[in-house]
Amino acid sequence: MCASDNSGSESYAVNVADTAAPEAAADPALIADLVTANHILFDQGVVDAFGHVSVRHDKNPSRFLLARNMAPGHVTAQDIIEFTLDGEPVNAAGRKVYLERFIHGEIYRAYPEVQAVVHSHSHAIVPLSVLKTMPLRAIFHMAGFIGEGAPVFEIRDVAGPGTDLLIRDNRLGRALAECFKASDIVLMRGHGSTVIGRSLQQVVYRAVYAEINARYQLETAHLGDVTYLTAEEARTCAMNIEGQVQRPWDLWRRQAEQRRKQ
Ligand SMILES: [Zn+2]
Repeated sequence: MCASDNSGSESYAVNVADTAAPEAAADPALIADLVTANHILFDQGVVDAFGHVSVRHDKNPSRFLLARNMAPGHVTAQDIIEFTLDGEPVNAAGRKVYLERFIHGEIYRAYPEVQAVVHSHSHAIVPLSVLKTMPLRAIFHMAGFIGEGAPVFEIRDVAGPGTDLLIRDNRLGRALAECFKASDIVLMRGHGSTVIGRSLQQVVYRAVYAEINARYQLETAHLGDVTYLTAEEARTCAMNIEGQVQRPWDLWRRQAEQRRKQ
């Protein structure tokens, strides 16, 4: 596929006509958690004006929920839109949607166990997405899910040398989704990362601690040799510690809510 096929003028915010009937309404508690996830990720510095989080629809696994095109810190329940796995909205009603929604749909299609997805451009992750000598790698127990080295998605291999690095169609979404066969987090060269989880609480935990882990790596790299977690340690840490994702979720939710009131 030539690069010009992916260098169109479509901007980050796009209008897409609704293509199907909406599913029965999602559980309001799930929508409330999705709103909370947006606020936490902004409050914790994982997303800024850009980046997004989605959750699989609880009534239909072939649908997912994602906010309309807006800054995550401002999302309310009324901003949540339902999408097909092709990334087509079903109840946008003219509201603009995220260009990179194909990341979410193709991951949900490929991995039935995945219930939530975060895509971000968080600040410490981006340097590691371009460093050829240092992969993102679990450096402490809270980030065991990262394992011995997160894969990096190279969009040039799929879309050629002149793209804007955005996942702007299903073909690119599928290529990115492939990388999750070996990891729950994938870095995107010169762009950011995408993280998957079995719940909103878990995926938010992972997105926050991936950013902290990346920061630690950058801070320690110039000081000397680093001892990373082994694959076995990483697996054991993830298994034992991720059972407690509700604790940071509750703390971060309260903190985000308090700051929103200020
Ligand atoms: Zn992006």
